[in-house]
Amino acid sequence: MKTSKAVPRNWYRFFLPSLTQIYHLFRIFLLPLLTKFFMRILIFFFVISVQSLCCQSNNQNSTVTNINSKPINMSNLDSNLQKISNSEWKKKLPADVYYVAREKGTERPYSSPLEDNYDSGTYYCAVCGNPLFKSNTKFNSGCGWPSFFEPVSKSSLIYKPDHSFGMNRTEVECGKCHSHLGHLFDDGPPPTGLRYCINGVVLRFDKQ
Ligand SMILES: [Zn+2]
Repeated sequence: MKTSKAVPRNWYRFFLPSLTQIYHLFRIFLLPLLTKFFMRILIFFFVISVQSLCCQSNNQNSTVTNINSKPINMSNLDSNLQKISNSEWKKKLPADVYYVAREKGTERPYSSPLEDNYDSGTYYCAVCGNPLFKSNTKFNSGCGWPSFFEPVSKSSLIYKPDHSFGMNRTEVECGKCHSHLGHLFDDGPPPTGLRYCINGVVLRFDKQ
């Protein structure tokens, strides 16, 4: 009778790692790498968020399309600007202006060409044309947004307490159309000691 040693049917399983071995490989090698990767992503977004919030407290520069640009056509808008709904504003305003002015957004720091503009002239609200700041009250705050130490007049702006993001800030709105402009801080230069940190995208500059 012929006898032969048969090869076990599932011989290859001998070479396959067990579930426990796979788990340990994952825990020792892959998990630290994945953790490091996600931590870096979290830190990146955290830094970006903090910079956006705090900078409306210290900066200069922006990607704006409205330097020396023509005012937005307001001829067909209701004369009572404060009664215009956001859905109507959305149709009238460019997306970047709408986002800041009506949704209280913040433009990217150092993105506005008005941030380092020191020509003589007047800064108007890009939404309604209300005169807001004179060029001789603009200063380089280094915070990334156009900064001024005084508005054109008391009625140019209105002020509101802003407790968003767990911070105590003073929001600045246009005195005429109530669009969000930026924030007010008390670390400005003389004579006022104030710093109006304004999003460049909601400003229109007219050179003298
Ligand atoms: Zn306005």
